[in-house]
Amino acid sequence: NIGSRIELADGNKMPVHGLGVYRMTDEDQLINSVKSAYSDGYRLFDTAQMYGNEAAVGKAIKDLNVKRDEIFITTKIAEENQGYDKVMSSFEDSLKKLQLDYVDLLLVHWPIHTHFFETWRAFEALKEQGLVKSIGTSNYGMLHLQYLATKANDMPVVNQLEVHPYLSQQAMVDFDRDNHIVTQAWAPLGRGRIFDDPVIIKIAESHGKSAAQVILRWHLQRGDAFIPKSVHPQRIQQNADIYDFELSNDEMNQVDGLNRNTRISQEPEMVY
Ligand code: NAD
Repeated sequence: NIGSRIELADGNKMPVHGLGVYRMTDEDQLINSVKSAYSDGYRLFDTAQMYGNEAAVGKAIKDLNVKRDEIFITTKIAEENQGYDKVMSSFEDSLKKLQLDYVDLLLVHWPIHTHFFETWRAFEALKEQGLVKSIGTSNYGMLHLQYLATKANDMPVVNQLEVHPYLSQQAMVDFDRDNHIVTQAWAPLGRGRIFDDPVIIKIAESHGKSAAQVILRWHLQRGDAFIPKSVHPQRIQQNADIYDFELSNDEMNQVDGLNRNTRISQEPEMVY
């Protein structure tokens, strides 16, 4: 069910299914979305310095008034805050805004070659200090991870990547798995661009489910972690309601077959 957690390589456990809050800029809307998601069983909330809403997430969490270890909070260091000192000081700001003593998962938002290792050294220090329980990356490709491995003491335990049926990233997902890294899919719904796909619609109709539910179920059965975003309580609930049906192997293959390697985001920068 939506409460299930996956064990990360560092021994911590992360909910497989969470709520993304990108572009939730209205504070009341964000607070209501988090509240609504919590009542549907969501326990992971994914924000970032770049989203400009960490303070609203902090208020939303406070409003929930639940035990800290019941929820799992991810934030990400923005590109302009990379480098040892900036990671440390900007992270302190993030914690204040979030009104937390620690975050569960801290990600490098995008790979950039300046400060590549220094940034990671700061991540390792924050983990050492207990201010961050798990450290990971986002939008890292194979070269980035291989390069990081040449100097890292702790490797990322999560790599958050754009993954959806039009960008299945199978080779990258396999690479992550082989390196004990959990792939967490961002834009798991392809930001709404896949809902009209006839293959998805047909499968959805045959199960009496929505296109969004079929896509999320595909992620689940594939072994991805995923963080769909919505601000509408009915959709937040609909996106949680994917645990009472199953896609057949043939249906999984049909969705796999939709891959066209098209990105919403830019191609992550190469590191040399
Ligand atoms: P998404 O694939 O989750 O799609 C969200 C959009 O789909 C919504 O805005 C809504 O329009 C629509 N939608 C959602 N549920 C629906 C439903 N049941 N029925 C109809 N329409 C529905 O895209 P996203 O928000 O870009 O990605 C999810 C989260 O991933 C973000 O909120 C953010 O937390 C994270 N993210 C991370 C990065 C990164 O670089 N690491 C980049 C982008 C997003």
